[in-house]
Amino acid sequence: MSDDERCEEYLFKIVIIGDSAVGKSNLLTRYARNEFNPNSKATIGVEFQTQSMLIDNKEVKAQIWDTAGQERFRAVTSAYYRGAVGALVVYDITRTSTFENVGRWLDELNTHSDTTVAKMLIGNKCDLESIRAVSIEEGKSLAESQGLFFMETSALDSTNVSTAFEMVIRDIYGNIS
Ligand code: GDP
Ligand code: MG
Repeated sequence: MSDDERCEEYLFKIVIIGDSAVGKSNLLTRYARNEFNPNSKATIGVEFQTQSMLIDNKEVKAQIWDTAGQERFRAVTSAYYRGAVGALVVYDITRTSTFENVGRWLDELNTHSDTTVAKMLIGNKCDLESIRAVSIEEGKSLAESQGLFFMETSALDSTNVSTAFEMVIRDIYGNIS
């Protein structure tokens, strides 16, 4: 392989959506920086973080966007969604209301983006098994009915975090190459 080929580069915008406090910001910091913040701080002040991976010996960069807490007021703007080719829709497995709101987030996503967006449903906080309120089966069946990938994750203990992001990134890559 020549240097030219190796330098070929892809940049994908991916958005993270879902109710407040489901763990969106921590999923991103776990994936991009391997960090976890036990104290919820709504605003980190960074719009997105970039993480690269190699696929077919090509550098694929994911520019992953996090809300700055606007979801609390259901005020995520269309600029947030603009140009996104992937989306993680996150709920908290210990709070049923966050699962019930997934449909609203999907509606909003579909309004602001086209149908080819790679989507994954994420049940986060799977380390909190003892206070689980949404079963894995419920998550799976919602994902199946909506044609989404599905995974349970823990930003706290890292379970499936990289796997989830990388699955979305590979799917996007697969659709364009
Ligand atoms: P966001 O509002 O969706 O961005 O949620 P945050 O990332 O700010 O997280 C909200 C709260 O949930 C914080 O106190 C986090 O420490 C906590 N949290 C996030 N992810 C997990 C997880 O996987 N497991 C547990 N036990 N707590 C988590
Ligand atoms: Mg946040």
